[in-house]
Amino acid sequence: MSNFDDKNIDYKNSVLHVEGVELNKIAAEAGTPTYVYSNEIFAENIINIDQALRGAAHLVCYSVKVASNVGLLKKAAGLGAGADIVSGGELYRCRKAGIDPKKIVYSGVGKAAHEMAEALDAGILMFNVESAQELSLLAQVASDKGKVAQIAVRVNPDVDPQTHPYVATGLKESKFGVPAAEAMELYRIAKNTPSLKAIGLDCHIGSQLVSVAPFVAACERLKRLFLDLRSQGINLTYIDLGGGLGIRYNQEKPPTAKEYGEAVLNVLGDIDDLFLIVEPGRSVAGSAAVLLIKVLYNKRTDFKHFVVTDGAMNDLIRPCLYGSYHQIKTVNEKNQAPLTVDVVGPVCESGDFLAKDRPLAPVEPGEYLAVLNAGAYGMTMSSNYNSRTRPAEVLVEGDSFKLIKQRETYDNLILGEIF
Ligand SMILES: *Cc1c(COP(=O)(O)O)cnc(C)c1O
Repeated sequence: MSNFDDKNIDYKNSVLHVEGVELNKIAAEAGTPTYVYSNEIFAENIINIDQALRGAAHLVCYSVKVASNVGLLKKAAGLGAGADIVSGGELYRCRKAGIDPKKIVYSGVGKAAHEMAEALDAGILMFNVESAQELSLLAQVASDKGKVAQIAVRVNPDVDPQTHPYVATGLKESKFGVPAAEAMELYRIAKNTPSLKAIGLDCHIGSQLVSVAPFVAACERLKRLFLDLRSQGINLTYIDLGGGLGIRYNQEKPPTAKEYGEAVLNVLGDIDDLFLIVEPGRSVAGSAAVLLIKVLYNKRTDFKHFVVTDGAMNDLIRPCLYGSYHQIKTVNEKNQAPLTVDVVGPVCESGDFLAKDRPLAPVEPGEYLAVLNAGAYGMTMSSNYNSRTRPAEVLVEGDSFKLIKQRETYDNLILGEIF
């Protein structure tokens, strides 16, 4: 039985490898907990989405919030990808990574004036505007600088993405985007504002979508609005479809990049002079990394067998926050019959678990475990809760690996504290 979707993370000689490197070796050199990324998987995922859209002029803008290490962003830049950012901090990372500012789109419902100014100075492709007040502040900031801000309006297509409520963003009750009727109004305002230039139409309906149907529904609504706008003399070039393509954590059967691309182009492919943007995040980084952790103790109670590890909710919050499922593998392949265990961390919260009631071969203190599909919203959502230093990050390329983020030190923990 292989639970691995990619040959680049698999057992070889009974030891779990990422590409050509055994995880025991990385654990010994980099310590644990550590996020271990496969360059090959990360790159393949970008290339597959790019290939899937080759029937149209398009740009893949990697969603930076998903896994933001500058070392990874450099890899994305090297493949010609742009970036979808949601903060000035992410813009800063993109600049460090050498991502072409003309390939950067800026999303998010709460852009601050200083962030707008930074993005204008950088010369990004467009701001995905989410409200009338944001549009008016952006116009002001651009005009103060004697610049023109290129914009898209993020519409809320009111499509149910059938995903976890925390990551559903395109429902009418969500804080994101504006209804189609209001979008029309914002484009009219933009047209009459010299410091604004409307160039696109944007949406992002949610994350971890496991069927193409919601994407198709969103595309149909976007297309109607896009053509309506053109008929009213508002000639846009870009449709930005956002991200959202799901991955297989457990039993899900998400569309492949190819199926996603076909479904999207089937709706949008016949629009004249269209330039398509997509903002994939999870589908790029999710399957590309494992969180490598160490077993500290076995603890048995009358009710449970806990495997206590040095990896915790502060390192990977998804199980606690969304009830997410992540496969967990022993780094040394085992033949013993599995026990049913909870894999938990040292944090003082009952929400601190990585897996519940999970079959896992017996393990002893000092052995390593790999939490699979941890590349997306893993490291970027980590925290210092319980004054735990955040994990190191390692990038594997073929038979070699390098540290791309040092493990934090206790000095890092109190950096900036005044006493
Ligand atoms: C988070 C986000 C993405 C990435 O979504 P994934 O589901 O990880 O692909 C893309 N665009 C916007 C605006 C986002 O907020």
